Amino acid sequence: MTRSEELFARARQLIPGGVNSPVRAFRNVGRTPFHATAAHGCRLRTADGAELIDYVLTWGPAILGHNDPDVRAAVQNAANAGLGFGTNHPAEIDFAQLIHQSLPVVEKVRLTNSGTEATMTAIRLARGCTRRHRIVKFSGCFHGHVDALLVKAGSGALTHGHPDSAGIPPATAADTLVLPYNDTAALDAAFDVAEARRDDPGHAIAAVILEPYPGNIGLLFPQAQFLETLRARCTRHGALLIFDEVMTGYRLSPRGTMGLHPVRPDLVCLGKIIGGGLPIGAIGGRAHLMDHLAPLGPVYQSGTFCGHPLTLAAGIATLKKLLGAPPYTTLDAAGNTLATAARAAAARKGIALQVHQSGSMFALFFNPRPVLNLEDVLASDATAYRRIFQHALDHGVFLPPSPYESAFISTAHDATAIAQTADVLTSAINTL
Ligand SMILES: *Cc1c(COP(=O)(O)O)cnc(C)c1O
Repeated sequence: MTRSEELFARARQLIPGGVNSPVRAFRNVGRTPFHATAAHGCRLRTADGAELIDYVLTWGPAILGHNDPDVRAAVQNAANAGLGFGTNHPAEIDFAQLIHQSLPVVEKVRLTNSGTEATMTAIRLARGCTRRHRIVKFSGCFHGHVDALLVKAGSGALTHGHPDSAGIPPATAADTLVLPYNDTAALDAAFDVAEARRDDPGHAIAAVILEPYPGNIGLLFPQAQFLETLRARCTRHGALLIFDEVMTGYRLSPRGTMGLHPVRPDLVCLGKIIGGGLPIGAIGGRAHLMDHLAPLGPVYQSGTFCGHPLTLAAGIATLKKLLGAPPYTTLDAAGNTLATAARAAAARKGIALQVHQSGSMFALFFNPRPVLNLEDVLASDATAYRRIFQHALDHGVFLPPSPYESAFISTAHDATAIAQTADVLTSAINTL
């Protein structure tokens, strides 16, 4: 028995499934999960003494690599002043200013403890502002484990085959309309129905929430005119458009997907990277909407730890580095190197592989056809992905432990690590 197997056996006695978040169980890749003992730069050390080049990166946040020295120093400094205040403190203003400067659609921002809390607050706020009930989401888009949004979601919910969780009363999800991503005709049809009854709060649409580039079912791209049509229909109907950029914010560009696409939302959800490795979420948007939040308005939101000084120290240090010397061109080159290597290996072997890559995110779909939505993702060969994952892990590369997660690259992945990974991906594909 390896040390990790021993630890996992003990963990299962005390923690449901041995994990504190379902995808960590490695259910979809047929392996016992390892335990980590340290993380520095692009590498994760395991309890078994292995050093893995990490493409999970704490599920996205660690864009500067693990335990960046500047971020660590900022957190240590902040800790010297106290582990929490429970009151307002000046770093909150600096942080809000940094977000506003890089994302002008965020005129005001409210902080939460997680991305889930951000999306939960966003839909409550949208319903409060519009006095309507109905929410539209897209199948395969994951917005955390908010009851009303845990319908045909991605990420762990998908890996475990329960897109609709037990414990959610049908009435809670009854006002959630789920549409296929990238399907403009379905979108038009849903809005036509809603517009016919726009004065009925039960039928009018309060908001449409989506990951503009879905990253919790691998990585998908919006087809031409999809986001534009969405924006136009929301505006005409009086519905709010919510971009869930918890994963893509400061990841795909300094402005998230808004750096790659002209469409602008009314509200944005952020998380992951903005916390610099510590827990966070944020909701932002136009001031007249944000001012519906308590104490100014009737929409309630609160949190003991919201705006925590250690998180904000890490977040400010991270955002300053990302905005001061934007690493996005270098990250995209690294992503491109890996994507090119995987495509070339698959072509030589005659294997149908779609590599989706944008900047420092990528996903591998073993599928002969274009992958545009959840259905296409599920039609891909998950067994081939499992074999790639296992081969990579045995050769020192930690890919996402599920075919339904995007891989991430950090600024700490140097040329040596990228070249080594390209070789491992090539040899992994050769084993198929
Ligand atoms: C991770 C994620 C969430 C949930 O964030 P948590 O901090 O895990 O609650 C929500 N939306 C998207 C797009 C995410 O990637």
